[in-house]
Amino acid sequence: MEWGKTCFGKLIDAGETESRAGRALLEERYRALQRQIPLLYTVALTNFLGLHLATGGRIGSLYSVSTLLVGLVCLRLAHWLRVRNRRLSPERILVELTKTWCYALIISIGFCAYALHLLQVVPPAYDDYVIFFGSFAALGCAYGITSYPAAARLPLVFLGLPLALRLLLFRDAAHLGLGISLALILLLITRLLGIHNRGFRALVESRTNIADERERARRAERTAKAEKAKAKRIADTDPLTGLANRRAFLRHLTRRANALAKSRGGFALAMVDLDGFKPINDTFGHATGDSVLTEVGVRLAATGGGASLIARTGGDEFALLFPDARDAGTAQAAGAAICAALQQPFLVEGREFRISGCCGITLLGRGDCNVEQALIRADTALYRAKQSGRAGVAVFSKEMDEIHRRRKQVEKALRLAEVQESISLVFQPIRDLATGELRAFEALARWDHPELGRVPPDQFIPIAEQINVIEAISDRLLAKAARAARTWASTIRLSFNVSAVQLCTPGSAGRILGVIEEEGLDPARLQVEVTETALLADFEVARRNLQALRAAGARIVLDDFGAGHASISYLREMQFDGIKLDGSLVCSVLDSLRGRRLLKGVLDLCASLGLPCVAEHIEGEDQLALLRELGCRDGQGFLISPPLLEVEAMALATPKVSPIRGRHAA
Ligand code: C2E
Ligand code: MG
Ligand code: MG
Repeated sequence: MEWGKTCFGKLIDAGETESRAGRALLEERYRALQRQIPLLYTVALTNFLGLHLATGGRIGSLYSVSTLLVGLVCLRLAHWLRVRNRRLSPERILVELTKTWCYALIISIGFCAYALHLLQVVPPAYDDYVIFFGSFAALGCAYGITSYPAAARLPLVFLGLPLALRLLLFRDAAHLGLGISLALILLLITRLLGIHNRGFRALVESRTNIADERERARRAERTAKAEKAKAKRIADTDPLTGLANRRAFLRHLTRRANALAKSRGGFALAMVDLDGFKPINDTFGHATGDSVLTEVGVRLAATGGGASLIARTGGDEFALLFPDARDAGTAQAAGAAICAALQQPFLVEGREFRISGCCGITLLGRGDCNVEQALIRADTALYRAKQSGRAGVAVFSKEMDEIHRRRKQVEKALRLAEVQESISLVFQPIRDLATGELRAFEALARWDHPELGRVPPDQFIPIAEQINVIEAISDRLLAKAARAARTWASTIRLSFNVSAVQLCTPGSAGRILGVIEEEGLDPARLQVEVTETALLADFEVARRNLQALRAAGARIVLDDFGAGHASISYLREMQFDGIKLDGSLVCSVLDSLRGRRLLKGVLDLCASLGLPCVAEHIEGEDQLALLRELGCRDGQGFLISPPLLEVEAMALATPKVSPIRGRHAA
């Protein structure tokens, strides 16, 4: 059965549907047949008709066979006319081709039988007509289905060949010659069919290959385009938050600003900087920090206040564009909405974190759309927002420009060695509140510039940190302070403020101790004041530096305790020798009961940790009395003494106990 199927398959050689080339060949064959077969049947019909007329209608005896054939031909013709423009699946085509082959066989054999029968029954005068129409039918039909050679060969073999052989039986030279000639033509056409088929196959194959190539090229182009778009998306996206990154933001900002130059309207550029993020990162690890940042991104996107673009431009810095904010009031409101959203607690891995964000905004208008300037202005506004406290919002104004200009001047001046050297020190006494004993002097930097006037330390120190000259300045100041302290009674310590950058620079403890040693001051007389914000920058490095300083004998005190927000965890994690209570705790004690309670609570906390306290900013007698009453050991403030010049401090720093009063010097 299988063998029979295979043989039949080979015989009809219709094609195959497994390969793409096979399917293409089938489709192409069928398309050609759709065009050619109606013509083929027309040829067959005209030949019947011709034969009928030529034999003068003397075919009556086989009239029923010819009618059958004519009927079959008409049916097939109608079928092919019906499916002329129809598209079929390769499987259906295979069926159609098989059918075509079978009909070609039936019609060829039928026509042949009919023609041979006619030769028997018609008078000899009509023989040539039968041969003529029969041969034409064979050749015409073969040509009609050249695109399907297995079927095209059938009329040649089953109609043409028998007629050629029949011609040989006439036994006269003319019919013999005609028979040989017909046989040769049949042979030639069979060969031509083979050649045509090979050409047809090659053509279809090459067309398929070209189509495949084109498809491949199209696909490659599509992939390349998608890859390019993906690469662009990656290059423009912050991988952590999924927001735009700095690069994309700047490009977008520039495009908008350029468009603004040619049109009316305006928009606002906002910069947001997080407060309190770093300690989360340092204490709970980067994974937690990342989750917080991701959530910040989500919140900004959700409460973007109508922002058209939100980007993460740095570690904990974000930038937004507000297309509808064209006046300071709207911009301020948009910034406030963002800061309010960031103040809500963050829940990460079951823990609650509280951070906040400051927002600096600048407006861009038609005549005022320089991108570089806008970035500086937003930065200046952000700086101002930070100064105004947690979750501060500031919209840039001309007055801030002045601040920026001054800041630039300060930066420029601070880089000069002679300016660094010109920064002097004053010394503020720290006394025992009960006995009045002078315990230490806090060295405070003073900088008077011929053009800038007096620049307070809490202004120039952060700038010096940012432009990386703090170590040079601090070394000079420490050397000066140590030189001064050497002249004091050995019981009086030098309290020196160490900046955040310094504290978080690996090896800075060695550097500090080196300066002290060079000036001949015993490290045991050094008291290092660090603020919690300084610890935030890099807790581990800060801890190592402080440990090294402690190991050398220096005392470490936590400055401005109560001003920040994370102090208690630092008290647990870092070993201190004392606490300096922030001035704000002391100032609030007189006018509020809560303030008093808070101060008492903090003092109790320090007492329970065994840490002596220094109260800062003591300005009034009643504050002093209260602090004494609450058991605060030491104090510092204008009431006790304002900061003193070096000579004044030296005069005071004698071994005897001095009364609680000082002269105003700085
Ligand atoms: P601080 O370390 O908390 O210094 C105490 C500040 O309070 C000093 O301000 C001092 O003049 C001021 N002060 C003292 N008594 C009173 C008072 O009764 N009432 C009020 N309202 N203020 C009082 P100053 O000198 O302007 O220094 C400000 C901050 O700048 C310092 O705060 C310290 O953090 C930083 N700083 C000062 N000198 C240096 C320095 O040489 N190096 C470093 N890294 N920072 C310094
Ligand atoms: Mg201090
Ligand atoms: Mg302080």
